[in-house]
Amino acid sequence: MHLPTLIVITLILNALLGLLLVVIYDLSKRKPCFLHWALSCLVFSLGIALASARSTIDLPVVTYGLANLMLLAAPILAIVGIRDFIGVDVPLRVTRSRSLMLFIFASILLIASYPDKAQFSAMTALLMAGCFAIGAVWIRQLSLRSPAPRLLLLSLYGAHAVVMLVLAALSLGPMPGATGNNIGWAYELVLASHILLTTGTAMLFPLLVYVATEQRLKRLANQDELTELLNRRAFFNISDGLFTESVRLGSPFTVLMVDLDYFKQVNDQWGHAVGDQCLQLTARTLQTQLREQDILARLGGEEFAVSLPGIDAQEAEDIAQRVCRCLAKKPLMIDGQAIAITASVGGVQRHKNHTTVQDMLLQADHALYSAKSKGRNQVIFHHLVQADGPNQGAPA
Ligand code: GH3
Ligand code: MG
Ligand code: MG
Repeated sequence: MHLPTLIVITLILNALLGLLLVVIYDLSKRKPCFLHWALSCLVFSLGIALASARSTIDLPVVTYGLANLMLLAAPILAIVGIRDFIGVDVPLRVTRSRSLMLFIFASILLIASYPDKAQFSAMTALLMAGCFAIGAVWIRQLSLRSPAPRLLLLSLYGAHAVVMLVLAALSLGPMPGATGNNIGWAYELVLASHILLTTGTAMLFPLLVYVATEQRLKRLANQDELTELLNRRAFFNISDGLFTESVRLGSPFTVLMVDLDYFKQVNDQWGHAVGDQCLQLTARTLQTQLREQDILARLGGEEFAVSLPGIDAQEAEDIAQRVCRCLAKKPLMIDGQAIAITASVGGVQRHKNHTTVQDMLLQADHALYSAKSKGRNQVIFHHLVQADGPNQGAPA
C-alpha cells in the first residue's frame, strides 16, 4: 500500500463526495443533514491535505494545529448530520449549538496538548474516537425497514472508534517499525484504515437517504394522507392475501364497508376543514375498536373498509354495532359545539362463491345501501345461508 497515493485518492474522493452532497442538499429542499455531511467531507479533505503537507511545509500551526482541528470537525459534522437525519425531537438549533460546544471543548483540549506533538496527535485521535462512539450510539436509533445500511454504518463507526483508539495509543508510544522518516508499518496501517473508513462512511450517507426515501415513498403510496390509514390500493393488496389465506385454512373472513351519514351536510355547514377533522376522528375511533390484525383503510371520500380475518358474520356484526355506537357517542367538538358523526355499515362474510375481496366488497356495499335506505346509523349484513355454501343470500 502506497500511503501518499491513498491520501491523494481519499482527498479527491471526499472532495467529490462533498460536492455531490452539496448538490443533493440543494435538490432535497435544503435538508440540513446533507449540508452537514457535505461539510464533513470537504473539511476532512482539507484536513488531510494540510496534514499531508507536514513533510514539505514547516508551518506546524497549520499542518498540525489547523489540520487536526479540521480532522476533528469532520466526524462532529458527520454525527450532527446523522442527528438531523434521524429527526430527533431536539430542534436543529439546539443540536447545532451543542455540537459547537462539543467542538469548542474538544478544541480547548487539543490546544492544551498542542506543545507536545505526540500528545496532540493522541488527543486528536482520542476525541475522534469519542465522536465515532457517539455516532454509533445515534445510528442505533435509526429505524429503517432494510437493516443493511444501518448495520453497515454502525459497523464502520464502531470499527472507526477502535481504530482511533489504537491510533491514540500508537501516537504516545514508540511506533513499531518506525525508522528515521519512516512512520512505521503499524501507524501506516492504522492511518490507512482511518482514511478508508472515513471515505466508506461518507459513501454510505447517500445510500442511507436513498433507503429512507424509498421507505417514505412506499409508505406514502400505501397510506391515506389525511387519516394516515391504509389507502384503497394497500387495502386490496393486503386483503387479497388474507382472503387467500382464509380460503386455504377454511377460516372465516369478513369485510365491512363503513360510510359516514349525511357527511355532505357537515361540509356544507362547517366547511371542508372541519369535515376533514371528522374524517380523522372517525379513523381514530375505528382504529380503537379493531384488533391489530384487522385491516382498516380509507377507500376514498367518507368511505372506510375493514377486513376482519378469522371473524364470522355474527362476531363482525357485534364489532360493527360497537363501532357505530362509539362513533355516535363521540361527536367532534368545535368551539364548544358538538358535530354528530354517525355511520352506516354493510358487511359480508366470505362465501364459496366469492372469488376475490372485490366480490365481497360489492356485496358489503349492497348491504350498506340497505342500511342507508333503512334510516342510517345502523349495520346490515349481507346474510348468506351458510358461510361456505351456495351463494343464495340477499341483503337482509
Ligand atoms: P349519505 O348518508 O347518503 O352517505 O350522505 P353523504 O352526504 O354522506 O354522502 P354523499 O356521497 O352525498 O357526500 C359525501 C361527501 O363527502 C361529499 C364530499 O364533499 C365529501 N368528501 C369527500 N371526500 C372528502 C374529504 O377528503 N374531505 C372532506 N371534508 N369531505 C370529503
Ligand atoms: Mg356518506
Ligand atoms: Mg359515500
